[in-house]
Amino acid sequence: MLSTSERLARHRVLREWLAYQLALADRTIRDLEAQEAEEKRRREVARTETSFTIQPARAVEGHPVLHRGACEVYRAGYSLLDREGVAAAFQDSPDLEMCDVCRPWGSLGIDKPLPGTRAAADPYEPA
Ligand SMILES: [Zn+2]
Repeated sequence: MLSTSERLARHRVLREWLAYQLALADRTIRDLEAQEAEEKRRREVARTETSFTIQPARAVEGHPVLHRGACEVYRAGYSLLDREGVAAAFQDSPDLEMCDVCRPWGSLGIDKPLPGTRAAADPYEPA
């Protein structure tokens, strides 16, 4: 049978080992949380870069403008559209113009609208 001193020494060692395990688990949790946040950020960047957004008309006689989601001219916030959303937007707003800076027609697989014309037609409808 162990003496009190021996039992105390063993429990001190056990406590040290448990503290080490706790620190290890805490570090793993912090690493995984950072990794998860980075993965979320990358998904968000990828989603923004492959999405589109519509800048509302700035004046009564103005026209809404279609941008890529990552356009520097207009920041989308949370209202990002996929290709189907863009097709629906063209149906809803035939006067929708396209940004000359981010050139969204490239990602949509359509030709650049001619100068002086708007991309009035549904880009998915053959001209
Ligand atoms: Zn743009």
